[in-house]
Amino acid sequence: MGAHKLLFSELKLWTSGRGGWIARLHKGIGACGKASLSSCSPKVCIVGSGPAGFYTAQHLIKARQDVEVDIYERLPVPFGLVRFGVAPDHPEVKNVINTFTQTAKHSRCSFYGNVNVGKNVSITELQQAYHAVVLSYGAEGNRSMGVPGEDLAGVYSAKDFVGWYNGLPSCRELSPDLSCETAVILGQGNVALDVARILLSPIDILKKTDITQPALEALAESQVRRVLIVGRRGPIQIACTIKELREMVNLPDTRPDMVAADFDAVKEALKDLPRPRKRLTELMLKTALEVPGEKEQERRSKASRTWGFRFFRSPVEVLAEPSHSRIAGIRLAINKLEGSGEGAHAVLTGEVEDVSCGLVVSSIGYKSLPIDPSVPFDSRKAIVPNTMGRVKQAAGLYCSGWLKTGPTGVIATTMNNSFDTARSLVEDMDSGTLDVSAAKPGSQSISALLEKRGVKPVTFSDWEKIDNVEMKKGESSGKPREKLLTVEEMLHVAWT
Ligand code: FAD
Ligand code: NAP
Repeated sequence: MGAHKLLFSELKLWTSGRGGWIARLHKGIGACGKASLSSCSPKVCIVGSGPAGFYTAQHLIKARQDVEVDIYERLPVPFGLVRFGVAPDHPEVKNVINTFTQTAKHSRCSFYGNVNVGKNVSITELQQAYHAVVLSYGAEGNRSMGVPGEDLAGVYSAKDFVGWYNGLPSCRELSPDLSCETAVILGQGNVALDVARILLSPIDILKKTDITQPALEALAESQVRRVLIVGRRGPIQIACTIKELREMVNLPDTRPDMVAADFDAVKEALKDLPRPRKRLTELMLKTALEVPGEKEQERRSKASRTWGFRFFRSPVEVLAEPSHSRIAGIRLAINKLEGSGEGAHAVLTGEVEDVSCGLVVSSIGYKSLPIDPSVPFDSRKAIVPNTMGRVKQAAGLYCSGWLKTGPTGVIATTMNNSFDTARSLVEDMDSGTLDVSAAKPGSQSISALLEKRGVKPVTFSDWEKIDNVEMKKGESSGKPREKLLTVEEMLHVAWT
């Protein structure tokens, strides 16, 4: 029986002959079959089950022996960008799921998937039911280039492109046209490199990953042979990290294609760079300028695909084919840099350059969106304004993860900022700033509301059924998992 059937509306038991549920309530057993401590225990709910949600929950549960945590997730499946963002050829990164699973299975933690907060239930309703609400719903939008032509067929946001190859239900229909030879990726962060790598990886590598079957089939037929990764600033300001660059340099059947002049001033600047930036820049210099050894030369000469950075270029217009139906290329403004080091900024020179291409992926960053008008939101920074995770001017409301910091940082960064938010919350409970003395109904009242609205949550054990089916499906084709691609399929498996 699902979580939605545990009825306890505004602290009043709903008695409609479902004696089993009432009995469970008296025994203190929650919707997910977990023992509830007591009606007086502090109840916290978390919105979003990505790394931020799970790390916040983990810290809260560890820091206080009485706190109960409920995680509400829009999709029927947990883990946010660990499932839908992290590249399929980076399986080791996804091991964090094991820790998240331990948290989800903790007796004081419950998962409610398939609940779209802001739509199925409001933040105000959550605040009435819980002592504290932590917003950890990530950054589900993307920054737009704001240039003419960006809506043409053949232009995709990295968010959608990544969502497509990773099985995000809303991106299933994307079917990007990969019939062109040259693809341009705008932005030089790690997401841009993920997209470049997926576009150029030999299919034999991809077919052993959890990339979706439709993406695998489309990539197997792809005509893309050349990928340009375009940045508005220079090599010293590039946003990717060394591991991801090294993967590009070593990608089988590809060779780098750089513009030597872009590195003119880089050698002299090298000595003043902080160590990680220095090592990254050295690898770029080596790749761009050094004549490789014999073996590497041979490898590169046999490669059928190329990739390269193009620096000092900002998009100004996506160019259309004469029919105006799809893209023919991109016009780039040529920039020069003002200032030095990582903080230098791009200034237009007035010159432009047109690059022919049939595919543009805009990878200039994700963006958080407001989900409920009652929550303060800084539209300029696209974050929830906060001090150490405490939402400004909103007692009892907290935030963590990308919603708190903006869309930068790896999982470890998100972990640290989520622990910080949990610490703030615990401090507030300990000091009495957050009053937890009065009993709150927690999931019991929210489950009743959801049932009334026809929303049936997916529990963590429901998710485990989906997980099992996906792994079994993957096994038969030599993949770690074959993801279910629609919400309907996920719910069907969860509830049968
Ligand atoms: P998310 O992971 O986005 O989680 C937010 C969750 O909230 C999602 O599950 C979402 O469905 C849910 N949600 C949204 N709206 C609602 C709503 N209204 N109601 C309920 N739930 C909602 N880091 C690494 O360390 N290694 C990598 O290899 C790596 N690869 C990445 C690849 C990509 C393409 C991207 C974009 C990021 C990558 N990162 C990587 C960074 C890492 O994914 C982030 O640091 C981390 O996921 C941020 O966590 P979060 O919980 O804030 O957001
Ligand atoms: P990012 O690292 O912030 O990179 C964004 C890129 O877009 C930068 O090159 C930036 O250039 C450029 N850009 C921003 N606005 C622009 C504009 N208006 N016009 C032109 N270019 C613009 O973001 P991301 O690549 O989306 O990655 C997000 C986070 O996830 C990062 O912290 C990343 O490390 C992490 N991540 C990690 C991995 C991994 O560990 N393997 C994989 C994927 C993502 P400027 O520098 O000039 O602003």
